Amino acid sequence: MSSNFAETDVVIIGAGPCGLFAVFELGLLDLKCHLVDILDRPGGQCAELYPEKPIYDIPGWPTISAQGLVDKLIEQIRPFGPEFHFGEMVTELERTDSGFRVRTDGNTTIACKVVVIAAGGGSFQPKRPPIPGIEAYESKSVFYSVRRMEDFRDEDIVIVGGGDSALDWTLNLQPLAKSLTLVHRRPEFRASPDSVNKMFALHEEKRIGFSIGQVSSLEGADGKLSAVNVKGPEGVVRLPATRLLPFFGLTMKLGPVANWGLNLNEERIEVDTVKFETSEPGIFAIGDINYYPGKLKLILCGFHEGALMAQAAKRIASPGERIVFQYTTSSTSLQKKLGVA
Ligand SMILES: Cc1cc2nc3c(=O)[nH]c(=O)nc-3n(C[C@H](O)[C@H](O)[C@H](O)COP(=O)(O)OP(=O)(O)OC[C@H]3O[C@@H](n4cnc5c(N)ncnc54)[C@H](O)[C@@H]3O)c2cc1C
Repeated sequence: MSSNFAETDVVIIGAGPCGLFAVFELGLLDLKCHLVDILDRPGGQCAELYPEKPIYDIPGWPTISAQGLVDKLIEQIRPFGPEFHFGEMVTELERTDSGFRVRTDGNTTIACKVVVIAAGGGSFQPKRPPIPGIEAYESKSVFYSVRRMEDFRDEDIVIVGGGDSALDWTLNLQPLAKSLTLVHRRPEFRASPDSVNKMFALHEEKRIGFSIGQVSSLEGADGKLSAVNVKGPEGVVRLPATRLLPFFGLTMKLGPVANWGLNLNEERIEVDTVKFETSEPGIFAIGDINYYPGKLKLILCGFHEGALMAQAAKRIASPGERIVFQYTTSSTSLQKKLGVA
């Protein structure tokens, strides 16, 4: 796996709504941000758990869909050019002489002056299917997400699941796979009807396989998969497989955040209510992940926390620089940063 190194002012762990809005508040103060998220797109819970549900308590929006809010936040922070690292989990946080070094399981290292943890309910982690011995194949032949499509070229791929991830990757990987079979326990799907229709069309044209049933066992050695056995209505079918992609949904776990030596309160990070700083100077926590007396797990609370956090982060990142309080309506300097002056 190749390694990447980057340097920035602020690393934001989590690209949910609060992490996204923090980019705006930090950007107004000239701080550049990198965001890291396990998911393959921005939006956190809004995008992953309830994208089409209307939200009624975002100030100024009597109603907006959760995905609509994420899209607006992305539009709002565009002038600040944040860098996103999707599909990567922050695993390590280390203090250095000049700030922090943040490392991910995707071999990315980012040096920064300030860390903002906006990790929500914790990391979204894939649910492992109940297949005996699957652990031995994980990250070698069994994957729960696709980081690089090239890693799947000319492979015998089996995808398991009936939701959008399973169907999207069936459609995206089919052109480069040696063979691809979708396995689902029933012929009905939760995925969008358009993807389901496209998948059935590929199956009609014999460009993919489709098996009804559940993967009951794996064949292979030393982490290298050679076949999977699918138990279905007509008995067990053996499918050649060098890559298995099970998409069984996600659960939320606190994950590596628990190991960074921060004061916790029942799986949430304790912060003060002036700066939203954790027990470690220079590490802030905003949004659902933090705890203070009276905390409400609401998006609007996370936005407020981001605004106050940014002031304190600026003092750390640019010591001695005077911070002038300004309104976006009347400050030409802020408007220049937003590209509207
Ligand atoms: C069904 C439902 C309805 C809701 N309705 C409303 C509502 O009407 N109004 C309202 O205000 N709120 C509502 N909420 C709550 C709202 O969605 C949350 O308050 C909000 O998403 C919190 O935002 P966040 O940015 O703090 O965290 P999240 O949205 O949870 O995002 C955190 C992100 O951090 C990532 N992450 C975590 N750990 C790591 C790590 N180690 N490395 C990399 N990435 C990591 C996660 O993958 C995730 O994408 C609702 C929630 C649900 C589930």
